[in-house]
Amino acid sequence: METAKRKEVLRSWFAGVVDKLGYKFTPDAGMADFLLEQLVLLERKLGSPYCPCQAVTGCREADMKIVCPCIPYHRRHFDHMKQCWCGLYVHKDVTDPSALRQIPADEVPPA
Ligand code: SF4
Repeated sequence: METAKRKEVLRSWFAGVVDKLGYKFTPDAGMADFLLEQLVLLERKLGSPYCPCQAVTGCREADMKIVCPCIPYHRRHFDHMKQCWCGLYVHKDVTDPSALRQIPADEVPPA
């Protein structure tokens, strides 16, 4: 499948998944488009749409936690930042993703 078509398939599939988790695609359309393209290229190269901003380790158990959308595995951290690591998804109430910042996992308050 050509890249543009696969991007749209993933966009539609992921939108439904993240909606149930309280997230949406970033309103930064250029960023979303770029990251979706990276996911398509990684899926083609490695077999799954691995996170564009995380390194694949070769350990299946660890790598399954960075297949997009990886929100369920990193829920507390992402909820605290109101976005995922890459910024592809943000909380539904976020209108300005540029106001968000990355927060290291060890700075997230305990549950
Ligand atoms: S950090 Fe975001 S873009 Fe990366 S895999 Fe997780 S949900 Fe997808």
